[in-house]
Amino acid sequence: MKKIHYTKPSITNLEIQYATDAAKNGWGEKCYDYIYKFENLFKEHLNIKYTMATSSCTGAMHMGLSALGISYDDEVILADINWIASAAPITYLGAKPVFVDVLNDTWCIDPSKIEAAITPKTKAIIAVHLYGNLCNMDEIMNIAKKHNLYVIEDAAEAIGSIYKGKKAGTIGDFGVFSFHGTKTITTGEGGMFVTNNEHLYEKVNILNSHGRNPKNPKQFWAETIGFKYKISNIQAAIGCAQVERIDELINKKREIFFEYNKELSQINNLTMNPIPKEKDTQYGYWMPTLIFDKKLGYDREKLLKIFKQNNIDGRVFFYPLSSLPMFEEKLENKVSYSIFERGINLPSYHDINSNSIKYVIDIIKESLND
Ligand SMILES: *Cc1c(COP(=O)(O)O)cnc(C)c1O
Repeated sequence: MKKIHYTKPSITNLEIQYATDAAKNGWGEKCYDYIYKFENLFKEHLNIKYTMATSSCTGAMHMGLSALGISYDDEVILADINWIASAAPITYLGAKPVFVDVLNDTWCIDPSKIEAAITPKTKAIIAVHLYGNLCNMDEIMNIAKKHNLYVIEDAAEAIGSIYKGKKAGTIGDFGVFSFHGTKTITTGEGGMFVTNNEHLYEKVNILNSHGRNPKNPKQFWAETIGFKYKISNIQAAIGCAQVERIDELINKKREIFFEYNKELSQINNLTMNPIPKEKDTQYGYWMPTLIFDKKLGYDREKLLKIFKQNNIDGRVFFYPLSSLPMFEEKLENKVSYSIFERGINLPSYHDINSNSIKYVIDIIKESLND
């Protein structure tokens, strides 16, 4: 059996053609052409006013938080179960991430825990749509309004996720996306800052150009200390091809999830990403994820070993960020601390076939009978 990867980009002749064109011709006056095209295509896909391609999602988050004025001693609330990239930019600005517990079904931030964590120092809430599952945005937006806080959507994992008719990433003050090689669409490394707020967009535009204001004709004049998180034209060329194929890539992710779900949801004591019931709401299912009930006494190291023996790539559920050495432990985040050791992400690269999915399912079933 050939190795079954957990993710791997879907690259066709279109990506190769655009990247080759960018490498051959995308210089001088054309050096931004694919970048602008990429930003415009993604803007159309999301139905949002402003998009700015970046070298990473982490960079987009860093600049967005900075543009909102998040700084020393401020507090930003986010879920404990997360990838570190959502929290690290908070600390770059001298602010403090405040980790609250997640919901048992979506594994996203528990809105009822947000209010208790708000202090006079709180400035923002980061809603991370984990594995493409959606946060409860209505409740989060209401809490933010009541307490005058910003809402940021980390939609790195939520391409293809739609909340009550709105694409993930378009609901809060700004959203960020990642095009890292493992994500639903990729540019190798890359990201996107998106917003409907013109003023915020202009601020981030200045920040991403080392503080240069495009409205100021003076060359090399910086009006503030900025950043440099730009994407290259060659990466953006690959991104253009990926966005042109975005519906196909999203549908593939959804199909893979439902193929796993059809079989695995029949087994007692196993849960996968939920299927939303709200109207006009759907998940992108970036990562089909399996949670083993406590009763099973499941040991993820054991399953990963069995996967490895059978040439399957498995991936562990994220750790609670508060359990990492840089942060203060928060054992009161009971769901987070109970769930992470029982979760695993299943292989879901776009070109995986039904035989491979069946094979992974069989190995999981066998491991349960051991
Ligand atoms: C991948 C990811 C990021 C970071 O993206 P980069 O492009 O690697 O900086 C941020 N947040 C979440 C939730 C992610 O999954």
